[in-house]
Amino acid sequence: MPDPMSRPLIPRGAEDGGGHLEVVSDPNNPVVGVLGTGDVSRSLATRLLAAGYQVVVGSRTPNRFVKLFPEEAKVTTQMEAASQADLVFVAVYPEHHSTLVSLKPALAGKTLVDVSNGLRISRDGPSNAELLADIFPESFIVKGFNTISAWTLQTGPRDGNRQVFLCSDSQKAKNSVKQICHRMGFIPIDMGLLSSSLEIENQPLYLFPSWHIPFICTLSLFVFFYFYNFTRDVLHPYISTGKNAFYKMPVDTVNLSLPSVALVMLALVYLPGLNAAYLQLWRGTKYRRFPNWLDRWLTLRKQFGLCSFLCAVLHAIYSLSLPMRKSARFKLINEAYRQVKDGVADSWVDADVWRMELYLSVGIMALGLLSLLAVTSLPSVAGTVNWREFSFVQSSLGHGALTMATVHTLVYGWDRAFDRSQYRFCLPPTFVLVLILPCVVLLGRLALFVPCVAGRLRKIRRGWERSRHVGFALPPERGFSGAEDVSNV
Ligand code: NAP
Repeated sequence: MPDPMSRPLIPRGAEDGGGHLEVVSDPNNPVVGVLGTGDVSRSLATRLLAAGYQVVVGSRTPNRFVKLFPEEAKVTTQMEAASQADLVFVAVYPEHHSTLVSLKPALAGKTLVDVSNGLRISRDGPSNAELLADIFPESFIVKGFNTISAWTLQTGPRDGNRQVFLCSDSQKAKNSVKQICHRMGFIPIDMGLLSSSLEIENQPLYLFPSWHIPFICTLSLFVFFYFYNFTRDVLHPYISTGKNAFYKMPVDTVNLSLPSVALVMLALVYLPGLNAAYLQLWRGTKYRRFPNWLDRWLTLRKQFGLCSFLCAVLHAIYSLSLPMRKSARFKLINEAYRQVKDGVADSWVDADVWRMELYLSVGIMALGLLSLLAVTSLPSVAGTVNWREFSFVQSSLGHGALTMATVHTLVYGWDRAFDRSQYRFCLPPTFVLVLILPCVVLLGRLALFVPCVAGRLRKIRRGWERSRHVGFALPPERGFSGAEDVSNV
């Protein structure tokens, strides 16, 4: 039976869609050591060789794993590897760091790169790297490469994250690791002293840290609207007339809830900016910090927007598939039959037709604008536009998307808010609830365009403070547009 340990993580030749990773190790180049023969060690050795370094791998049982490494790498004992290299990657689990203590004399004065990760997020130190520094006080410890997976290391930076976070108390040691990073095609990011190692070790363990609140908001809103719609559209007909409408639960009710969540989430993207503007107006200064909750909310706007976009896209897909359902076909046939029976010649109602046309057109526009916002929020795209362009898309077009989505909902609602039969169990139609927040945001935003308000906000954002009574006037020839003044947050 073949030894499972002899199977490499990535088969040789996987690089370049089947071609071999070219190994260009040069005997005149520095020797880099790697302790351990696991996944990370094999990937590191391959990439280091490709970057032109000589590689010596230190193992407890070198003969067992020698075949897993490229021929150009020297697989030997831990002691020999530690003695031959000036810079050594420690690619063993942190709980085994202490077993390397016998290498202390051989590693004295050398650079050790700790690639280890923790098992769970730790808020209090010491970090693995700091513990390694305690074991090897005469070596220079550099923390790094732990945020790069063994796969990315082997396939190369173009197939994954390019950034390598580094920290160390020795600038010289850090510089030599930076140089290796550059030669391997990665971008070193200097995170300062070794005390930052805890944060670097925690990084790969975070699970979407900035998505918790937007995700919880989206889910809570969805659950709320789903049960609200369920009560009105499924439970009410069942209780009041015994009509079974439970078939609506998987598609109809979901499709009514998704746009509600999308619109409220989109309003939540623009509400904190509005709060910030009014807070600045009220305080008469921009130099007082926003409350923590507002600060946090402002930083999460992108995530709120993307959640809104997801719900809007799902709503579009659900809506497109509505006519495919059997229930829709039955309803259509029954309606046609009823009309024939009643002798109705033409069921065309101009107002209904217009309403539907407008409703669809504005909805498509809103989704188009939202897509644009989502695309521009991608770091690679955001990097290609300047601040003014970014602010134009995210603020002006964003408010355009909010307006379109609000009009879409208004047209959907039409005059039903004034129809008493729509208030089932005394609950107003869903669109009435949904429209509250977007209307508040849009009206609040409009109020910021009133010249005296816009002028005051502009002065505040340019450094004027009410309490100091500093005489301050903007040069009239600069010709700032109102849109710029109120879109700065
Ligand atoms: P692995 O495949 O289990 O390899 C660990 C190696 O440690 C073994 O092959 C072993 O090599 C060596 N070792 C030395 N002393 C040991 C001891 N006393 N007991 C057991 N093994 C000992 O682990 P890995 O995936 O390469 O990960 C190595 C380190 O890199 C870990 O700290 C991990 O957190 C970190 N890391 C991993 C990844 C990843 O994608 N896997 C990414 C970033 C960071 P010998 O038997 O030849 O001595």
